[in-house]
Amino acid sequence: MSQKSVSNPSYRNRSVIHECHCGIDAPLMTAWTDSNPGRRFFGCGMYKVQGFKKCSNFVWLDEEMNPRAKEVIGNLLHNLNEEKHRVKESMLKEEETRMKIKFLKKQLKFNWFITIFVLVAFIATIIMK
Ligand SMILES: [Zn+2]
Repeated sequence: MSQKSVSNPSYRNRSVIHECHCGIDAPLMTAWTDSNPGRRFFGCGMYKVQGFKKCSNFVWLDEEMNPRAKEVIGNLLHNLNEEKHRVKESMLKEEETRMKIKFLKKQLKFNWFITIFVLVAFIATIIMK
């Protein structure tokens, strides 16, 4: 890959655009694999484009992390994913509770209607006597 813009010589500058050897821009991406959590790289824009020849060329932007940093980030990501799962389950339970409340409100309305109807019928029966 070659560097298109050299306005800022810093290799860590996000505005630096890279071009793959196949001529396509290689946007800055972030890997989230166990072996490279959060490690940025320039990946060819043709990597996942359907119907075209796939190009899997890439260049790392960040240095490889030490094993301890990988382990800590891995654990944090695991905890984050568990928390996301818990939040999702809570949201589903909340929606289920909302639906139950809606159903019970409808049932309550219907019960009130029946109660009033029976009461009116009872009073009418007494008055008719
Ligand atoms: Zn390419």
